[in-house]
Amino acid sequence: MGERSDPSGAATVLILGGTGEGRALAELLAPRPELRVISSLAGRVEQPASLPGEVRRGGFGGAAALARWLVDERVAVVVDATHPFAARISHAAADACDRVGVPLVALRRPGWTAGPGDDWRWADDLAAAAVAVAAVGRRALLTVGRGDLAAFAGVRDVWFLVRSIEPPVGPRPLDHALLLARGPFALADELALLDEHRIDVVVTKDSGGAATRAKLDAARQRQIPVVIVRQPPLPGGDAIAIVDDAVAAAAAVAALAAAGPGTPGAR
Ligand code: NAP
Repeated sequence: MGERSDPSGAATVLILGGTGEGRALAELLAPRPELRVISSLAGRVEQPASLPGEVRRGGFGGAAALARWLVDERVAVVVDATHPFAARISHAAADACDRVGVPLVALRRPGWTAGPGDDWRWADDLAAAAVAVAAVGRRALLTVGRGDLAAFAGVRDVWFLVRSIEPPVGPRPLDHALLLARGPFALADELALLDEHRIDVVVTKDSGGAATRAKLDAARQRQIPVVIVRQPPLPGGDAIAIVDDAVAAAAAVAALAAAGPGTPGAR
């Protein structure tokens, strides 16, 4: 394993996490004695649930600093298991891995797909979603994350039910109520929430995944429109192994770690 192992001989795997997929991957990999697993969290959530393996918190300071960190920690494989909207860290990871020749596995959660009966209004970004919501409804369920409310701060004539895991940071909508809740959410509960608050539009990012999908099914059942923000473009290409679930990511990591540094075709 050459330079890409710790003194015990274990190959070091860095999981860029903050998602259910990152957790699932850490749970799959941490028990393997041939791997040293480090999960990296941005540090936005004050009390994250505990994770198996090692955990580090906070930004690296950009791509160049991340590249140095990979060398210092003798990282053999990086997995980008961050949220689809966490585009900066995904680009930094691709850049850093490229600089120092460390293979990168991207665990990309597919977005949601509209079906019969869905009334989805796609928005290119949060600013466009803020414009769209005022044209569509007056009582909105807003589930874009606690750090992304500023775009809605200037929206008039719409009352927002803001749902987030922890209290929002930064500017909030003028007229709103706050609901602190952590998914997964069940369909029956989402229907009750829409009814209780007389919600007439749902605003969400296209986060994909099962944990927060029920609000979309509830909106369809209540014939409520959904303003949905497209996923940002993320790095791709031949240099990155792209998988869509934690089991596939674990298999890719195991193969890359076993192959050691400089694997032809791994980059
Ligand atoms: P972002 O815009 O891509 O990242 C902003 C900065 O935060 C990065 O430049 C990096 O700082 C640091 N960072 C982000 N993820 C990190 C990680 N896993 N480990 C260490 N540093 C990290 O990301 P974001 O949208 O703020 O999301 C932050 C975290 O929350 C991510 O880990 C993501 O998986 C999770 N999350 C995001 C969303 C969302 O809607 N965006 C939803 C659920 C969970 P430096 O430049 O200093 O290295």
